[in-house]
Amino acid sequence: MSTLFAADEAKRLLDVAIKGDMPDDRGRFGPFGGRYVPETLVPAFDRLEAGVKEHLHDPAFQAEFQKELHEWVGRPTALTFAPRLSEAWGAEVWIKREDLAHTGAHKINNAIGQALLAKRLGAKRVIAETGAGQHGVASAAACARVGLPCAVFMGAVDMERQAPNVDRIRRLGAEVVAVETGDKTLRAAIDEALREWVTDPNGIYYLLGSAVGAHPYPYLVRELQSVIGKEARQQMLDQAGGLPDVAFACVGGGSNAIGLFHPLIADDIELIGVEAGGIGDGLGENAATLATGTPGVLQGSYTIILQDDDGQVQETQSVSAGLDYSGVGPEHALLQATGRVKYISARDDEALEALEELCATEGILTALETAHAYAAARIYAQENPGKRILIGNSGRGDKDMPTLTKIPPRIRS
Ligand SMILES: *Cc1c(COP(=O)(O)O)cnc(C)c1O
Repeated sequence: MSTLFAADEAKRLLDVAIKGDMPDDRGRFGPFGGRYVPETLVPAFDRLEAGVKEHLHDPAFQAEFQKELHEWVGRPTALTFAPRLSEAWGAEVWIKREDLAHTGAHKINNAIGQALLAKRLGAKRVIAETGAGQHGVASAAACARVGLPCAVFMGAVDMERQAPNVDRIRRLGAEVVAVETGDKTLRAAIDEALREWVTDPNGIYYLLGSAVGAHPYPYLVRELQSVIGKEARQQMLDQAGGLPDVAFACVGGGSNAIGLFHPLIADDIELIGVEAGGIGDGLGENAATLATGTPGVLQGSYTIILQDDDGQVQETQSVSAGLDYSGVGPEHALLQATGRVKYISARDDEALEALEELCATEGILTALETAHAYAAARIYAQENPGKRILIGNSGRGDKDMPTLTKIPPRIRS
């Protein structure tokens, strides 16, 4: 439990969140979130916020979104019982298969939803940022689907590290814009995309990839990704005969985790978010934002961030490029501070071991990001025998083969 609020204030905020009344009309999740952006960006954010209000819950928009999720993304994704992993862990393990969604991860739910919104708002072109390239791929695919040109901003360092995804994005018809400023990775790519947006807030739609940044993005992305938790909840009732005792999801910016958790927060289910523990506990050795960070403003949102004593944002480190971000969505900051969700971390080596175990027991090659959730769930199962465990399998690991190839498989006993 956090020391940010008194216990009664935490309870009051959690009650508001459970009732579904977050964020408030200023985009706040308790003290977190909001919109801390330069004056030049205010018209663009105002326009987006008005568009979200008008269209997101409009039945015609929802019908179109659900149809794309079904016919193009391939939803509902399966809920898979994992008998051999259950036996190995002494638990009952269920897996929500976002790896089976089109383009191989949950990111497509958000990308197609926002691409449809861009169309409704009359945008002439879409811009997006990407770090590892996964959101770039999803955005390029979604824009091709709705017939809008797309430019993906990507740090020059990431372009070199993720060359296959650069090629994938281009083949899907999008332009890749190399970002040579700042740290030349994800953070710089977001800054550069925001700069581009200011030049034409009416013609350009900015398709942000996670539940981070200034209002309304954390809310918009949560609403679009909540399909994961809504489906999983119903599938657990239908297939397992009841809700899980505990649910795990990996946390980078926090979009797959909030998508799974949000529809479960009113239930009596333990929720655990798993961040990248990298190679160690020192500042700069991991991306365990909630587990080790402090409150501050990053890219328009008041949230928990990794910073040094002078407020300098820290670089992160993780074997999984998709968890490598110095901030986290503001709703997670609140869920942690109120004690509703627990956030822990798993190290690179633990994630790699869990990835191998899942391959060998269930024939599922999961993404390196997702492997962190398995690593934490495995330890939990040892400490709490006989639990019914739900794991949000955010994506598939095919994209990680270049990384995995460099790491020799462990010899199993
Ligand atoms: C991008 C990505 C993540 C991390 O992003 P969130 O916004 O935290 O969900 C996790 N898993 C996979 C497979 C990803 O591609």
